[in-house]
Amino acid sequence: MDADRLLLGNLVLARGSVGRGAQWRADDRWQAARRADPRSRVMRVCDGAALVAGTDADAVRVALDLTPVVDVPVDAELTFLGVDDDDVAYFAEHLGWPESVDTTDARWADLRQVGAALDARDAGLMVTAVALDNWMRTHTRCPRCGAPTQFSAAGWSRRCPDDGTEHFPRTDPAVIVLVRNRDDRALLGRQQRWAPG
Ligand SMILES: [Zn+2]
Repeated sequence: MDADRLLLGNLVLARGSVGRGAQWRADDRWQAARRADPRSRVMRVCDGAALVAGTDADAVRVALDLTPVVDVPVDAELTFLGVDDDDVAYFAEHLGWPESVDTTDARWADLRQVGAALDARDAGLMVTAVALDNWMRTHTRCPRCGAPTQFSAAGWSRRCPDDGTEHFPRTDPAVIVLVRNRDDRALLGRQQRWAPG
């Protein structure tokens, strides 16, 4: 029983310490104030990856490379990710090309590469930002009439300018199962083309 509880407590991508602040997503005045707040921070997302600090691909501990929001162009469409216990607001900038940011002291990494090396705050931010980024890139048009949809609710919905419909990100439940017998031996599978071992 204790072992089972340990397994569930160690889900590296189910951590997070930033409250999502859903009540402020459509509050334009609140959003504008946080966009002008020098304490607010922005993470960069592109094609399933986030910009992380440092260039060492083997680093045991990794942190997101966060930029003050006031250094990001005011017309950039930023997704609002939430507010932490110190009242710092976090946003994500969705980039079309990884080359559009300076990577002198940073690098692009996906969740498989750095998910377990991030702390709870950064893991939660990255999971949310990558999921929303994937949805935005693949849901650019209205499913009802085909018109290009527009960014809305601080990135948490897309609105059709032609018929007024609003579209939301899909929630995809996922289950990971460990099959084991009474002797606590796990059943594993592997692809034939993977490297031995
Ligand atoms: Zn439409």
